[in-house]
Amino acid sequence: MKTIEHWINGAATTAGSTRTAPVYDPAAGRARAEVLLAEPSDVDTAVAAAGKAFESWGDSSLSQRTRVMFAFRELLVKHEDELARIISAEHGKVIDDARGEIVRGREIVEYACGIADALKGGFSDQVSRDVDVHDFRQPLGVVAGITPFNFPIMVPLWMHPIAIATGNTFVLKPSERVPSASRLVAELYAEAGLPDGVFTVVNGDKVAVDAILAHPGIAAVSFVGSTPIARYVHERATATGKRVQALGGAKNHAVVLPDADLEYAANHLTAAAFGSAGQRCMAISIGVAVGSAGDGLVEILKRKAAGIKVGPGADAGNDMGPVVTEAARQRVIDSVTLGTEQGATLVVDGRELRVAGHEDGFFVGPSLLDNVTAEMSAYRDEIFGPVLGIVRVSTLDEAIALINANPYGNGTAVFTGSGEAARRFQREVKVGMIGVNVPIPVPMSYYSFGGWKDSLIGDSPIHGPAGVRFYTRAKVVTTRWPHSAGPGASGFNFPTSS
Ligand code: NAD
Repeated sequence: MKTIEHWINGAATTAGSTRTAPVYDPAAGRARAEVLLAEPSDVDTAVAAAGKAFESWGDSSLSQRTRVMFAFRELLVKHEDELARIISAEHGKVIDDARGEIVRGREIVEYACGIADALKGGFSDQVSRDVDVHDFRQPLGVVAGITPFNFPIMVPLWMHPIAIATGNTFVLKPSERVPSASRLVAELYAEAGLPDGVFTVVNGDKVAVDAILAHPGIAAVSFVGSTPIARYVHERATATGKRVQALGGAKNHAVVLPDADLEYAANHLTAAAFGSAGQRCMAISIGVAVGSAGDGLVEILKRKAAGIKVGPGADAGNDMGPVVTEAARQRVIDSVTLGTEQGATLVVDGRELRVAGHEDGFFVGPSLLDNVTAEMSAYRDEIFGPVLGIVRVSTLDEAIALINANPYGNGTAVFTGSGEAARRFQREVKVGMIGVNVPIPVPMSYYSFGGWKDSLIGDSPIHGPAGVRFYTRAKVVTTRWPHSAGPGASGFNFPTSS
């Protein structure tokens, strides 16, 4: 069986690793490869190489870094098909969906191609007589990224293009369930002309993560994953003096008002709830039907959910692939069962779905639960699977209160024909990313991505301007010319402007 190695100092290597984990093909339900799991000593080796590379990369010109980003972007286009197949094989999502994450991730590389503009500092002329002030930003050093399984290429791309373009060297610890895309990315960076050691991949589990969090040679950690681990990473890494971005889980609501185009809203809700088998941090897992919208909405959703074609992600024509592991499949099934036991109405039942010829695959069909309430587990838990719950409320105020009482605050959406209602919604809702008639409002690369409350621990969103700030630190320089003695050039008192 193929063994997926680390990528350290510009080459594939086993380093000192001997432990492995299986990498599954979720559509077949069996292992397709094994991945090495790093020991703390392997993390040391990787960080040492990245530290050495920083000595020259941290001093490289903006032109050199930008040239690499442009070349890398072209290679991502050229290898899109290959990357999409790798993602689909290990994650399970359909190929077109995998292409979608490559395109959205590539937008961050495009932003990084313009890093020279994003890094421009300010200059203030003559703040005092003969005195000017300017500021500029410098890279941190070796920075690390720890990423989840659900976007094998896009989430790492939220991090490394900006980290590298701003002059850092980057150590990625991808999810051990989907390691192969990162390996190809490492090869593409090398082909794009990135010097050895600037981009590193260390595969592993908690052992590697803990070694990263404690490592004195790492200046900053970017994490995306579930909320308990985000909290853990934030606590551990800040305790060792690192900067931390820590993005967590979600439970995203889409509110449908009675004046919405129900067919349009249901179409988008279906795609946002069941696309990628519900395994997106911006998936809509709760529809909030306001007033008279409820019955019509559920009727259309029932028809659409029942029409979803489930099968292997690699086969054209399928809308939805399997979930990532057998444990995830069981969790989804149990959540639907518990939902019905707690009083929800099971409108579409995906629990028994079998895909012919793929009986061992981790498939589970779309499920629709109506009359969900805020007390039920189906509402409270992040199921992270193809389950859409519908909560019925009477007014927009009630919908907003429901969302604001939820511990998560990643994304939300409102479907309405009323600009007034939409404006009130976006101003009052305590959520970081909001869609108006847009179900999955993932910001473009030149904005930053981040939720509120338990969906983001600490205060740093990811990519865009926040990403540039995160991976750099500022210096402010105060300069006086001429340098020879003049009025106010020396003095015993605390300096003030004149
Ligand atoms: P996860 O938290 O289990 O794993 C994320 C990373 O942490 C992986 O690299 C994993 O190896 C590591 N890890 C797991 N357990 C650990 C432990 N005990 N100690 C140290 N490290 C550990 O998440 P996942 O299942 O891979 O991904 C799904 C989760 O990610 C969902 O909760 C989803 O909402 C969230 N997510 C959030 C965003 C966002 O932008 N907010 C984006 C994508 C995914």
